[in-house]
Amino acid sequence: MSSLPVLTSPNAELRIVSTDFSPEEITQPETKTLVKDLIETMRVEIGIGIAAPQIGVHKRLIIVDVGNNQPQAFFNPKITSKSFTKVDSEEGCLSVPGTFGMVKRHRSVTVTALTPQGASQTFRADGLMAIVFQHEIDHLDGVLFIDKVTKYTTHPKL
Ligand code: ZN
Repeated sequence: MSSLPVLTSPNAELRIVSTDFSPEEITQPETKTLVKDLIETMRVEIGIGIAAPQIGVHKRLIIVDVGNNQPQAFFNPKITSKSFTKVDSEEGCLSVPGTFGMVKRHRSVTVTALTPQGASQTFRADGLMAIVFQHEIDHLDGVLFIDKVTKYTTHPKL
C-alpha cells in the first residue's frame, strides 16, 4: 500500500462527477488496493475522511474514520434522508490546504452504501459523523466545502 498525492483546488479533476461501482468491481483486487491506498493517504495527511476523486479516481468510494482509528470503506454512498435541522460546522479539506470555514450541514443523515463485501447497509449518522459523510459524498459530486462556506475562519495549524 502507498500514500498517494492528494489533488488540490483549483484542479478541475476535483469537479468531475464520479460514477458508481458495479457489484463485481467492488470485490476486485484492484479495488482492494485502491481502498488500502486511500486509507494510507488519509493517515499520512491526518484526515478523518477521504474520497476517491481526491486522488484522481472518479469512482464513488469514500473512506471514513468511524472512530478509534477505524477507517471504513463505503461504496456508492447515498444520503437517503436528512434532518430538517442544520448545524454550523467548521471544516477544512485535504484538497484545500490551509483553508477553514463555516458550512451549514444537516444535523443527522441516513446513509445507504455498499460494504467492501458488496452488501448493502443503511445507517444513521449524527454529530461529527453526519458532517463527514456529507462532506465526503459532496466530493463524489464534484462539490467542495468552499462552495458552501458562509464565513472563512482562521484555525490553528495542526
Ligand atoms: Zn474534503
